[in-house]
Amino acid sequence: ATPTALMVGTGRGAQLGILIKGPEVLESTRRVDTVVLDKTGTVTTGRMTLREVHAAEGTAEKDVLRLAGALEHASEHPIARAIAAGAEERTGGLPAPEHFENAPGVGVRGRVEGHEVTVGRFPGALPENLARVKAEAEAEGRTAVVVARDGEALGVLTVADAVKETSAEAVRQLRALGLRPVLLTGDNRAVAEAVARAVGIDAGDVIAEVLPEEKVGVVRRLRDEGRVVAMVGDGVNDAAALATADLGLAMGTGTDAAIEASDLTLVRGDLRVAADAIRLSRRTLATIK
Ligand code: ADP
Ligand code: MG
Repeated sequence: ATPTALMVGTGRGAQLGILIKGPEVLESTRRVDTVVLDKTGTVTTGRMTLREVHAAEGTAEKDVLRLAGALEHASEHPIARAIAAGAEERTGGLPAPEHFENAPGVGVRGRVEGHEVTVGRFPGALPENLARVKAEAEAEGRTAVVVARDGEALGVLTVADAVKETSAEAVRQLRALGLRPVLLTGDNRAVAEAVARAVGIDAGDVIAEVLPEEKVGVVRRLRDEGRVVAMVGDGVNDAAALATADLGLAMGTGTDAAIEASDLTLVRGDLRVAADAIRLSRRTLATIK
């Protein structure tokens, strides 16, 4: 009798837009008490656009855009796409980099027009005007990245993506099911807290500035604390954490790596369906008992 009810649950899942790897997945779904949500592409649309361009004193905004755009053109990160597209539009053409390399969770670096250029997180001190605009943008939930040439900060670019319309309702439903939502991101803390506020996650449950390879450690730590953890993500950088969670849920709109690492796929990338999945598994397993 048990396998039949589980198969019915799996079929119902497909109707709801949930792909379930195997019937046994429903069992772990039922026990989940914590839901870790990746920010970019999961809670937010992941479709970023370039917003502001700020240059250091004595630097032209066009130069900041040109150098950043040239490097980001070679990257597929959502931030990179926004910067490359915005830079191309505003400058009318980008030079080809002489060298390019991704620094996951940090940004990109390479050689453009004979200079070492980096775009992303910046370890050094910023000139006062750049520090100020960066802090302002982040407090309002935009991601600010620093463009540097030969180790010197030249400018700050801000990009923003929108919180999905369904995310706040999804968080409300997850809470109603007795689950504790946690926001996990490589992005800056101020940006992460602004998104958390928009969807109803407590600031104390925001884990920000986490490098891609550290996401799995966060999930492991929560499990060590005795929590039963579901993780929802979309990116290559979420794959290990999705595989390590008691239950991994991938956004169907996300990368193949995330989908392959997960137990469930939310076909339409709608976070509310994560709550549907938990409801379904509880109901299916109640039928069996
Ligand atoms: P998330 O965990 O929210 O999906 P990531 O781990 O991909 O975010 O990125 C973390 C941070 O690293 C970004 O907020 C940004 O500051 C920086 N970063 C990553 N990739 C890039 C890039 N291509 N260009 C500029 N900055 C980047
Ligand atoms: Mg992501």
